[in-house]
Amino acid sequence: MRYPKLRELKEAITSLFSKPYTSKFPAGEFKPFAGFRGKPIVDEDNCVGCETCANVCPSNAITFIDDAQTGIRTISRDYGTCIFCGECEEHCITGKGVKLSDEEYELACFDRSVLIETQERELLICDNCGAIITTKDHMRFIHEKLGPKAYSSILNLNMLNERLQLAREEDIKVTIQDGLKRKDMFNTLCPNCNRKIQIKNLM
Ligand code: SF4
Ligand code: SF4
Repeated sequence: MRYPKLRELKEAITSLFSKPYTSKFPAGEFKPFAGFRGKPIVDEDNCVGCETCANVCPSNAITFIDDAQTGIRTISRDYGTCIFCGECEEHCITGKGVKLSDEEYELACFDRSVLIETQERELLICDNCGAIITTKDHMRFIHEKLGPKAYSSILNLNMLNERLQLAREEDIKVTIQDGLKRKDMFNTLCPNCNRKIQIKNLM
């Protein structure tokens, strides 16, 4: 028979008289420690619906559905699939769109569908080909980041006008017909359609 080492014996005796490391949760209260990774909480004012967190989520807990008909992007976050890795928080482009709570952790339930939360964001769609550019909030965020440099693009001028109402929409909106022309630059165009106009201008 092997005898326990003195250090192990000391540990065993000390633990008999010290408080337990574990809590009696759910019977007793559990106080999360500093840096605890709980439920990811979305900040509606700072999430622009850019898709970055969905691209980095290792468990595919975050998914996006774009509906060009309604012009809405629906973002779903499934906390039944989330592994609380914190990648979404780490890579959030605004730095404040989602944060793992160090207080909210009780997610046990019988119906997993209650663990899915959704958000909606308005899409920015190309007036010519119908391609989805991004969300309007994402584009506004890019504007703020770039400052005055952002307004060297016609697309951005349209969005600036939407905010400042410098001209009426009916005055700047031009109906696109018989192919893209220079005047159509004042519509909301995706990079591909914008490029086609620029190339035509050069020829
Ligand atoms: S990366 Fe941030 S801003 Fe973009 S969708 Fe995710 S939480 Fe929102
Ligand atoms: S914490 Fe990790 S698994 Fe959970 S939603 Fe964020 S990236 Fe996905």
